[in-house]
Amino acid sequence: MKSDCVFCQIVAGEIAADRVYEDQHVLAFHDRSPKAEVHLLLVPKRHIDNLDTLTPADDDLIAHSMRMLPRLARKHSLDDGFRTVINTGVGAGQEVFHLHIHLLGGPTLPGL
Ligand code: AMP
Repeated sequence: MKSDCVFCQIVAGEIAADRVYEDQHVLAFHDRSPKAEVHLLLVPKRHIDNLDTLTPADDDLIAHSMRMLPRLARKHSLDDGFRTVINTGVGAGQEVFHLHIHLLGGPTLPGL
């Protein structure tokens, strides 16, 4: 855990979040400023800054995270599809430096 990391604090239960799924490796919760009807964040429980700092030791965690996304989407009735976004670095607008996957969906999802 990184003590000054807001998502580590959510994982630890020190900051409240609207949690929708959790297992040994990952936690999913609603984004507090949703950009779509459904806007979830899926985070690894272990602190990783972003994609730039991944190592081969994270491969299983990343594969697990990817497989969780369609399950989370289905659970939130996104039967027509969903979008995932991972911002990496300040140039991409990453605000929270704890790896997270945005899962977005709903009828008014704009085109890219
Ligand atoms: P990013 O720009 O990819 O780093 O996205 C960070 C996201 O985290 C933003 O969409 C924020 O709205 C969201 N966020 C930040 N703090 C919290 C929090 N305490 N609970 C839920 N979502 C948060």
